[in-house]
Amino acid sequence: MVSNGYLLNEKNFNIIKNSKINGIQITLDGNENIHNKRRFLKNGGGTFKKIFQNLVDIQKYNSKNEVNISLRINLDKTNLNDYKEIIKLLKENNLDGLINPYIARVQSHNDCYKDSDCFTEEEFIKIKKEFEQIMEQNKNYKKFDYPKRINNFCGCDFYNSFVIDADGSLYNCWNDLGNKEMSFGNIKDKIEITPKYLNYIMNDPTQDKSCCECKILPICMGGCPFTRKSNKYNCNEYKYNLNQKLINSVIYLKNN
Ligand code: SF4
Ligand code: SF4
Repeated sequence: MVSNGYLLNEKNFNIIKNSKINGIQITLDGNENIHNKRRFLKNGGGTFKKIFQNLVDIQKYNSKNEVNISLRINLDKTNLNDYKEIIKLLKENNLDGLINPYIARVQSHNDCYKDSDCFTEEEFIKIKKEFEQIMEQNKNYKKFDYPKRINNFCGCDFYNSFVIDADGSLYNCWNDLGNKEMSFGNIKDKIEITPKYLNYIMNDPTQDKSCCECKILPICMGGCPFTRKSNKYNCNEYKYNLNQKLINSVIYLKNN
């Protein structure tokens, strides 16, 4: 489950745990200052402190690590080094090895952001490399990034995966959130399998000439289906660094 983490208190965490949800992804959009400028409340107040405190508190109810907590840190050219502060905060709060941080690049969709502030996948690989080098020095960091054969790209083209907005409307893709034309139902009603619901799920990269000829199709499955709708490719990082990833995996196996 992906959540903004703001209401992840003891009561809600226990509902999640008892529902047998075994993983939650929480996102921070940078250090406290930048995050609060991007992820503020309706009244303008910040959300960083509360989300981070929830991450600290969860450990009291998740002592056996029944629910895997991953922390996505969104980066672009304006907050490139913020992950270092967040990693430091995790360490200071004894969350090392309990919360799994990773970095992801911000992309400009729906005219919500400036393309010029975003990294390309190729540019972002260098930043990921630096992140991984820092994390490798941390013995609690469990990272083994061996490419896996996948059947779909993301939650959007996956059966029984839903994005739910604030009034309960359902979507396949989180980039469509709030665009009611793209909603195929509401969580309060019976969920119908409609053509709109199936539209993303039927996404088939083997029908695309470039993807079909691409050697990494089985570990990419055509990239983001939302991006493909506008005839762009969002190629997987493995297209650029598969060799290095495989070498890293061998080194990891040898050492562990
Ligand atoms: S890396 Fe690019 S071309 Fe290759 S399968 Fe993925 S999206 Fe298609
Ligand atoms: S289709 Fe793209 S934007 Fe939508 S959820 Fe999947 S990866 Fe994210």
